[in-house]
Amino acid sequence: MANRALHNLGATPRKGNHPCNLCGQFGKLTRTHVPAKAAGNRVRRSRMVSANGRVIPDPDPRDGGLYVFAHCRTCNGDLQAQYDPAYAEMANGLRHLWVPYPTPGMPLRHALPAIDIMPGAIARTVLIGFFALAPKLRALHPGLADSLVRRDPAITLPPNFAIHLALSVGTQARIAGPFFNIVASSMGRGARNVGVRSSASIYFPPLAWQFAPPDDVLLTAQGWANVSDWLSMPADRTVPLRTVCPPTLPMVWVPEFDPMFRRNMVSMGGGKIAEIVMATDVPAQLFDRA
Ligand SMILES: [Zn+2]
Repeated sequence: MANRALHNLGATPRKGNHPCNLCGQFGKLTRTHVPAKAAGNRVRRSRMVSANGRVIPDPDPRDGGLYVFAHCRTCNGDLQAQYDPAYAEMANGLRHLWVPYPTPGMPLRHALPAIDIMPGAIARTVLIGFFALAPKLRALHPGLADSLVRRDPAITLPPNFAIHLALSVGTQARIAGPFFNIVASSMGRGARNVGVRSSASIYFPPLAWQFAPPDDVLLTAQGWANVSDWLSMPADRTVPLRTVCPPTLPMVWVPEFDPMFRRNMVSMGGGKIAEIVMATDVPAQLFDRA
């Protein structure tokens, strides 16, 4: 049962040719790291999947980072690799904001330092990562995928999609495909439950990204920043982070480990299309702190 479920996963190598999640060309799919290996993504993973609504632990955890077999060699090696250094640079510049072992009294938001980033490149690599995690995204939004593949100088998201940014805390990392997370309200009968309709998500210290509607109730309540307009910038432009982001960002947990949510959260995956790849013990020395 478990092996059969794992066989359907993008995290498992598949023989033969398959359509690339991004460009749609048939070919051999390559190991697509989300986020880039250069951002410290060489952690030991413990893959978990949603199979028939059940989440099961990877029976064979191993090193090598969080990845799925999703993109062709061209999209992975040429396109995404072009933007990865900008992502790694931002992650490195914010690494001192990562709180591996949060305490109850910790602040809920962190002020951002005065660093320069390349928002266009970073948003593109995050969006390419979302395509890797959500196999149906290209079929639903081929124009968006083509715009990335063509390296358009400005990219526009379809209505009802936004890239949300927060700071990831804890020693867990998780990349996931489409999920509908419901947080049951503890306010008693009649209170509304709160849901996240996430098409894809990336939690990897020190950053967290969600591909979800711009008005998502839970992400808005948590104070995530909507950074969708980073896609409208050319990939080679460098700007001060504080000019393209609110002065502070919220600190968020991988949902399954959030002490606020883990007891009353229900995740509904989309069957075979939803998957979770996770690391539960990200080393505190993830970045070289010398
Ligand atoms: Zn491709």
